[in-house]
Amino acid sequence: MIARRAILIKLPKDKCDINHIRRLMALTNLAYRGFEVWVPDLPKTIQNHLYGSFKNFKGSLVFSTKPKGWFAKTWVPLKTLRIYPGGLRKGSATALLILDFRSGSIRIRQVCRNEPGFVVTIPMPRWVVERVKEGGDIKFAMIGLKNDEPYLALTAERVVEPHVPSGCRLAVDVNAWNNGVAYGIINPNNRIAEYSPLRPNLRLIDTWYYRAEDLHKRLGKLRRLGLDSTPEARRLAREVKALRRKVYAYLRDFVQKRAHELVMKALRLRAEVLIDDVIEESRRELIEEKIPSGLRKIYLAETRRFIKLFTTQLQWYGVPYEFKRLPSTVCPICGHKLIQERGRVMACTNCGFKAPRDKVPIHWALKAMPKAKVSPLDESPMPLGSTTTHEPTPITHVGEVEVPRHNT
Ligand SMILES: [Zn+2]
Repeated sequence: MIARRAILIKLPKDKCDINHIRRLMALTNLAYRGFEVWVPDLPKTIQNHLYGSFKNFKGSLVFSTKPKGWFAKTWVPLKTLRIYPGGLRKGSATALLILDFRSGSIRIRQVCRNEPGFVVTIPMPRWVVERVKEGGDIKFAMIGLKNDEPYLALTAERVVEPHVPSGCRLAVDVNAWNNGVAYGIINPNNRIAEYSPLRPNLRLIDTWYYRAEDLHKRLGKLRRLGLDSTPEARRLAREVKALRRKVYAYLRDFVQKRAHELVMKALRLRAEVLIDDVIEESRRELIEEKIPSGLRKIYLAETRRFIKLFTTQLQWYGVPYEFKRLPSTVCPICGHKLIQERGRVMACTNCGFKAPRDKVPIHWALKAMPKAKVSPLDESPMPLGSTTTHEPTPITHVGEVEVPRHNT
């Protein structure tokens, strides 16, 4: 099967003409609808690219959905030319995007500004080099605007053979950050070999959150007094914004690192992965625990992204996985509701089962005996080894970033 991962790269704003890119996006939208609009002041190379090869893109992964509306933001698909260190060239000679691994740079021709021969050169991201080392290839790219900023989206794809499971299982229970992600390793003779929670530094998050709330209140007071344009108020507003941004940046980074670590663990052990992603339950629990709504939002932030990053990378490395309910508040022995005692210990009043909260989901995973080959990767839809398949496989997320969709 073919696995894909994507990355978004911010382009230098001073080298991009936003209006030009916006116009190209509008023409792409039209092209999707089967219209060919030949504009006299655009280079033929771009228009040939848009209309001449559009059929190729239509069937490819990210472009398999139609833009939702007439004025939907439609990213401009680009074919790529890859030049490898030995001089080997892959892709289209007329491509507007050149990935040059010899000089470690990416050249974007014509699309950033409407000037003949205009080229923007950016350094090759390490991400690309790593994906290529793993056997990936970057056949497609897209350029477009996100919040009026120019971006390049690269999609790496790779033919993966699912690895032969060793009999090990890795159970991963994703909760809101106050409980965190609990993982456990079950060895081939069905014993729990290791378990641990992955929790961000909650004290740090809480500190930033309450500090921002505090400053926000003071700002509110100033506003009510009509003092919202004073230097003091502006300083407060800036500080609040910076603190909130800090919280999310911290969680983003945490998620990225931990997801990757878990994937590497699964890969090393040749484990099959069980994932519980019932985040709704966490949301309810947070409400029951009377966590303020702002903090609740933070505790749930990036949990979905964690799962997306995790599963995309599992696919990329050919690790079989499946989703499974692994409750941490229900007794794995008798199904009775567990009560939480001091020190995060969960206890069953019915059968006497007792375990640390983070270990309960792993007990559930123990019960979920590996069924004979039913992981999502076993039903490979495409013949292995064929690299030229461009089946219209709609996928909603492909890794490090969500590939930009056609937003209305
Ligand atoms: Zn019980």
